[in-house]
Amino acid sequence: MPTPSENLDIVRSRIASAATRAGRNPAEVELVAISKTYPAELVREAAEAGQELFGESRVQEALVKIPELPGRLRWHFIGHLQANKVRKALPLFELIHGVDTMGIARDIDRIAAELGLHPRVLLEVNVSGEGSKHGFKPEALERGLEDLLALPRLQVEGFMTMAPLAEEAEASRPCFAALRTLRDRLSAQAGIPLPTLSMGMSGDYEVAVEEGATLVRVGSAIFGSR
Ligand SMILES: *Cc1c(COP(=O)(O)O)cnc(C)c1O
Repeated sequence: MPTPSENLDIVRSRIASAATRAGRNPAEVELVAISKTYPAELVREAAEAGQELFGESRVQEALVKIPELPGRLRWHFIGHLQANKVRKALPLFELIHGVDTMGIARDIDRIAAELGLHPRVLLEVNVSGEGSKHGFKPEALERGLEDLLALPRLQVEGFMTMAPLAEEAEASRPCFAALRTLRDRLSAQAGIPLPTLSMGMSGDYEVAVEEGATLVRVGSAIFGSR
């Protein structure tokens, strides 16, 4: 079995090649190593190989794991955040990827005010319209964006999406391209930069980089199958 360190080398070089193919600067793309379900020892190995940014999808798990690891590591929340977990999540994570309803956005804003925080967030978009997926439908996001941007504590930095499950990485391309196009349009419409695009997982991160991802969320290609 290859180690996290060996896998990280491979993933990083594939990200760089994909960026170069697309005429992008590889430094524009940051790798979020998704450590959900993996033990702290594996995260430590990745950290020793130079990876500093990790993603977790369950607050309960992160509350146990994060304190076991070096304080210099940075953490993103990538899952579906429940209202009753916001208070615990906000101090742990420097970026919340999946703000997926107006309700949770308001909850985060209110609790952030109580805690004296200004959380950085991404809005999750259900580009494909799959019923099973979390996230704003593109039309709903367009209607609601002004209200979301008006929440005083939230720092909305961009969008996140998950492509529908598919065998082929190429199948994700239309979804990623659509997110970038939506971002370009809504950013121009609202007159604010929305620089961050979180898209791409182990199966399709190279395609995501070609389509403009600035954050890729890669778990099993680094840590092995769950
Ligand atoms: C688990 C997860 C990932 C990583 O998935 P892999 O296929 O292991 O790379 C990325 N994004 C989200 C939202 C996840 O829940």
